[in-house]
Amino acid sequence: PAPEAAGPALEWLDRHGRTFGHFIGGGFTKPGKTFASVNPANGEKLADVTDGTAADVAKAVKAARAAFAGWSGLSGFERAKYLYAIARQIQKESRLFAVLETLDSGKPIRETRDIDIPLVARHFYHHAGWAQHIGTEFPGHVPYGVCGQIIPWNFPLLMLAWKIAPALAAGNTVVLKPAEFTSLTALLFAEICQRIGLPEGVVNIVTGAGETGEAITAHPDIDKIAFTGSTEVGKIIRRATAGSGKGLSLELGGKSPFVVFEDADLDSAVEGLVDAIWFNQGQVCCAGSRLLVQESIEERFIAKIKARMQTLRTGDPLDKSIDIGALVAPVQVERVLDLLKAGRLEGGDFYSPDTEIPGDGCYLRPTLVTGISPAHSLASEEIFGPVLVAMSFRTPEEAVALANNTRYGLAASVWTENVNLALDIAPQIKAGVVWINSTNQFDAAVGFGGYRESGFGREGGKEGMGAYLKPGWEKKLS
Ligand code: NAD
Repeated sequence: PAPEAAGPALEWLDRHGRTFGHFIGGGFTKPGKTFASVNPANGEKLADVTDGTAADVAKAVKAARAAFAGWSGLSGFERAKYLYAIARQIQKESRLFAVLETLDSGKPIRETRDIDIPLVARHFYHHAGWAQHIGTEFPGHVPYGVCGQIIPWNFPLLMLAWKIAPALAAGNTVVLKPAEFTSLTALLFAEICQRIGLPEGVVNIVTGAGETGEAITAHPDIDKIAFTGSTEVGKIIRRATAGSGKGLSLELGGKSPFVVFEDADLDSAVEGLVDAIWFNQGQVCCAGSRLLVQESIEERFIAKIKARMQTLRTGDPLDKSIDIGALVAPVQVERVLDLLKAGRLEGGDFYSPDTEIPGDGCYLRPTLVTGISPAHSLASEEIFGPVLVAMSFRTPEEAVALANNTRYGLAASVWTENVNLALDIAPQIKAGVVWINSTNQFDAAVGFGGYRESGFGREGGKEGMGAYLKPGWEKKLS
């Protein structure tokens, strides 16, 4: 198939003069000091985006505060109408969103077009429904007020939806900061908010890097912080908010096990594994990055994976036949290469297919590491790249022990044709979600989140709604 045309997304950028301010109080501000947003597939600059200062954050918080009484005072039905309107506009502009997301992040168009953007629309539809049930489902609860939301670059618009949809449904107003590599779809989303007539100040988007995030975390008039990103920054934010009385939820890193028993349907398991570790170039918090395979089938299964790796195509993310696109930025490529370099010194067998990859751009070959122990750094560190490590186990008890041998606890996947074994194993794995004979299943109606260093709080489902409400008497929600 012909590559998806970049044209409409580039025209949209041109209409904004390829330079963006923040979206505050219902309009775009004049650009300040900017940084470049670059296409990682070819190194071309897409636009200049404003680096938010503490004063910008303060202005956004002021706008959000001013909007709060009006927004939380609307009936659930009225708030729902706005959320439905956002969902419909996202569907209408889904192609533009998908192409812009692919250009900005390097994610294959097949993923942005068929997964990310449809899930975003679904998330807004789902929470429009919730807006009308808060009074009955959460009696005696009120919204927090102004929520500061900080998101990563791996699912830019989807993480925005996970944050903004429930916050708005519950009656909060928000100041959201996209990650510095991927601000553009958040800015297109801001334009959608404007277009549907969302009351000004309900959604504010402030672009920038870590310092802008720090200003959000530190702002005294923010009532709740919701963060998705690295465990390292999650710890900083937890310390920074300690004692402030701010609400907090953290969705952090992972090193999720993918457990394959000898009786599993191995061909299905291989396809599941491709999705678990090479979806979005492995830059997925719940990536099945640790393969645990039963010793009796280890050799056969590893051979199947290697054969499948030979057929994976890495290249231009706008090419619809591509399986693996570009990593988000040169620093992420460096980070993965550094981890691999350190890992090689500790031993192990490293396998990559000899397929072609483009010479320029943030491309990495998929890699499989075997012959290592759980103590190996690649078996314990989150790599956030297209690198799978494999280890073996003999008994189900050993499988559980290996699966839980991590400081994280976000997700897991178990493959077996024996339903009793699956149902016995799943609850013993300490992870927020355990998929059986499947992987990467997400739905707005199901809570997602972690244990241990993967964070706390849930997004999606009733728990996700509850994360944006607190017990209170200030104002009853209808
Ligand atoms: P990151 O922690 O470096 O950055 C995340 C966000 O925090 C960005 O917007 C960044 O600008 C901001 N930030 C950086 N320093 C900050 C500070 N000191 N104070 C406030 N904000 C700050 O993470 P990343 O590299 O963008 O994303 C990758 C990480 O995100 C991985 O570890 C991954 O596992 C995790 N992640 C988790 C989930 C989940 O649901 N659990 C989902 C996606 C990604």
